Amino acid sequence: MTDTIGVGLIGTGYMGKCHALAWTSVKPIFGTGPRPRLVQLAEANIELANQRAEEFGFAQATANWRDLIANPEVEVVSVTTPNAFHADMAVAALEAGKHVWCEKPMAVGFSEAQRMEAVARKSGKVAILGYNYIQNPLVRQIGELIAAGAIGEVNHVRVEMDEDFMADPKAQFYWKSEASSGYGALDDFAVHPLSLLQRLFGNPTRVFAHQSKPYLDRPTAEGGKRAVETFDIASVLFDIGSISGVLTVNRSAWGRKGRIALQIFGSAGSIVYDQERMNELQLYRASGPAAVQGYQTILSAPAHKPYDRFIPAPGHGIGFNDLKAIECHELLRTIGGEKGRVIDFTAGLEIERTVHAMAQSHAEQRWIEPKRAGH
Ligand code: NAD
Repeated sequence: MTDTIGVGLIGTGYMGKCHALAWTSVKPIFGTGPRPRLVQLAEANIELANQRAEEFGFAQATANWRDLIANPEVEVVSVTTPNAFHADMAVAALEAGKHVWCEKPMAVGFSEAQRMEAVARKSGKVAILGYNYIQNPLVRQIGELIAAGAIGEVNHVRVEMDEDFMADPKAQFYWKSEASSGYGALDDFAVHPLSLLQRLFGNPTRVFAHQSKPYLDRPTAEGGKRAVETFDIASVLFDIGSISGVLTVNRSAWGRKGRIALQIFGSAGSIVYDQERMNELQLYRASGPAAVQGYQTILSAPAHKPYDRFIPAPGHGIGFNDLKAIECHELLRTIGGEKGRVIDFTAGLEIERTVHAMAQSHAEQRWIEPKRAGH
């Protein structure tokens, strides 16, 4: 492996900044792997592109993302634009021989996701999705506890993902309310819990979904009103083989700021975790005297790899951007030929398949079994 890698960043909003921070911090945090060179970024207009390049430390800026794809110094491309752009940008980057780190959801339509997966497979390049929550050291710990039989045979899982950034009925209509962004909470939110479920248990074998809109229209910047085209709430029953589950997602949930709450029930105990308190998990073991049974709180600590790369002290905590740095490191490990902990486009396509099965279930009001290879 060369000791540097040229980075291109498309989009510099919320996620673009997170990627930029990850590219900047990954080497100091992990010490190993190539040192990222911040070659070029692309934004929708050149003024903002120049401003962000100066802030983030990129050498060049452009308002035409295809310039960045054509830049021979760019070896890996972060795609952090709104959902509707993911497919074209990721495909162009892969076809130009670059590795890709694309934000979730993979694409708006299932056929677009299939196209991305096919191109990625053919390219031989590494293409991964921004499923940062699987990177939490405590989520790894949950997987290890389950594998070690700490809660026995898992029989039921409940997952909720809630935020309130669209809870205000007076909040303006923007791209997340447009059908061009997808179904709504299903592909904006449900994909994240599905990434956790995929890691811990596999993909749902059947789903029954219902979507709803808390507000039918929203104010526009021009002072008018526009009909909301997406569903901000979805509720889903699912099975993963013999494990039954309930998934609810709501981006209009006043009071919830970054909730991804997992409750995992087994024959010998349970595990409770919430991303809003991402540095602690609760473990209940149905053993020992009944008088002292109860949930045990486990705080994140150097024992939960790779927490130790950030800070040597237990209980001090890591944050959201640290998950992005871990994701970046796993991407670089994968590029280097190791088996990184990533959701590549092939695994990501299965998440998309589940989401589209959920939307179909809502439309047809019946159970749907996503058709997967090998089923
Ligand atoms: P955002 O609106 O904050 O940023 C998007 C940026 O892309 C903007 O700066 C916009 O100007 C730029 N852009 C738009 N069209 C462009 C073009 N043609 N060329 C270059 N730049 C262009 O949006 P966001 O919240 O950062 O969301 C971006 C993506 O990240 C979405 O797909 C979203 O689902 C995903 N996301 C992921 C997470 C996560 O936890 N992994 C969290 C939030 C958002």
